[in-house]
Amino acid sequence: MTQPRPRRGLCLVLAAPSGAGKTSISRALLAAEPALHLSISATTRAPRGAERDGVDYFFRAPEAFAAMIAEGSLLEWAEVFGQRYGTPRAPVMAALARGEDVLFDIDWQGFRQLRAALPGDVVGAFVLPPRLDELAARLAARGDAPAEIARRMAAARSEISHCREFDHIVVNAALPEAIAEVRAILHAARSAVSRQLWLDAAIGC
Ligand code: 5GP
Repeated sequence: MTQPRPRRGLCLVLAAPSGAGKTSISRALLAAEPALHLSISATTRAPRGAERDGVDYFFRAPEAFAAMIAEGSLLEWAEVFGQRYGTPRAPVMAALARGEDVLFDIDWQGFRQLRAALPGDVVGAFVLPPRLDELAARLAARGDAPAEIARRMAAARSEISHCREFDHIVVNAALPEAIAEVRAILHAARSAVSRQLWLDAAIGC
């Protein structure tokens, strides 16, 4: 059992209402887990702040996005806040085949489609704030205008209404604990029998 043990990679989806701390969790996760890569989505929305094309998103014109759908080069796509977002297929398939894992920062619609496209390869964790009114406070602290906070709260409630479709719930009351919980979910999923491509040859029965 000292030989390399090939493993099929997995897709870890982190979904959350905005303000639940998903970005902080995914950054920490990527820093701590070298065999975990972030899936960079394509979107029709314009870059915000310091966002860079090819790093934060692939920013695409609506026509170019439609062409990606038509070619079948997206694993899933959805409309969120009036813009289209989607997951490029090729980098995900390449990572899985290399035995590496992919982290997705997508919404519930994306999770549902991804699970249908790659049955058995997708693990979903939904991040919740300890209390819903905490979300409004976090959005306010980040400087959003009241109308924007109200809009995002409505969107948050709608996202939360789908949390039961996921495999795991992580309550982000304290960031280090939430990060540890998501890492534990990733490690447990890696050890699933179905991912151990070496097992049959090793045990010979
Ligand atoms: P934002 O515009 O704030 O970066 O993202 C808005 C929402 O779109 C977030 O909930 C994010 O999870 C979701 N999103 C980002 N990329 C994708 C994607 O590739 N597919 C789907 N379905 N949702 C995405």
